[in-house]
Amino acid sequence: MAQGDVYATLLTNDLYLPGAMVLAHALKNGGVRDGVTVPGTSKKLAVLVGEGRLSRESLDELANLFDYIIPVPIISGTAHGNLQLLGRLELNETFTKINLWKQTQFNKIVYLDADILPIVPPDELFEIDAAFAASPDIGWPDCFNSGVMLLKPSQESYEELLRLVQSGQSFDGADQGLLNTHFEGKWHRLPFTYNCTPSASYQYTPAYRHFGSKVSMVHFIGANKPWGHRADNYDSMSFGEHVQNWWNVWDKHYVPKGSEKTTSWSHY
Ligand code: UDP
Ligand code: MN
Repeated sequence: MAQGDVYATLLTNDLYLPGAMVLAHALKNGGVRDGVTVPGTSKKLAVLVGEGRLSRESLDELANLFDYIIPVPIISGTAHGNLQLLGRLELNETFTKINLWKQTQFNKIVYLDADILPIVPPDELFEIDAAFAASPDIGWPDCFNSGVMLLKPSQESYEELLRLVQSGQSFDGADQGLLNTHFEGKWHRLPFTYNCTPSASYQYTPAYRHFGSKVSMVHFIGANKPWGHRADNYDSMSFGEHVQNWWNVWDKHYVPKGSEKTTSWSHY
């Protein structure tokens, strides 16, 4: 049955649960972009969960926040060498993302990694007339970053992507290399402000000062996720500011239990 448009994220295990919780709250809360208040989203929220991977407690928490909890098979690659080059062996299972294309019960999906912080819900992305859209990657801007994607589910695309996984054709060993191979020359380019990656190691500070208020979504790429620690003494201004923004959403909804530095929670 057709279920319209949906935001979707992915959890292959319990580790990124705080990310998915803040993501859902931020989409529902709304926010301010370029001086304009944007209300909470009118779209439904979905989370793809690795089959048999999440604890009962995590699934209960997700049920409070997401309209659809969709178990999907874990799809892992074999190209460990490339991920070793990236220093990110935990990304071996991110091929699980291709299950998005199988969700043909939805019309369009705006997929967001669990480490995305929407400053405002980007509902306008659903209006774009393209089968696939994404923002450039800061590491190699001719590639798109696979943490924010507008896509149209299609069984045919899913099967092609699965064939690519099986043939080992991901140049980085993870989903981003695979998807960039599949969609090369065929992706609609979204502004960087939809997937702004203020990682500690990269800054274009004058541009951030100029465009920062227009940012719709922040993406905490890399091994250092905001739920691992509170924002204190970061050398990069915008990174610290956005880690603080992540915690502001968290603290609005959850009381930290015990240590200030943990993401154990209880509801208000
Ligand atoms: N993910 C997960 N558990 C993991 C690793 C990844 O659930 O242990 C999911 C999660 O949605 C995450 C996405 O896969 O946001 C991609 O991984 P990550 O964001 O760490 O990659 P990066 O954006 O740093 O390249
Ligand atoms: Mn990410």
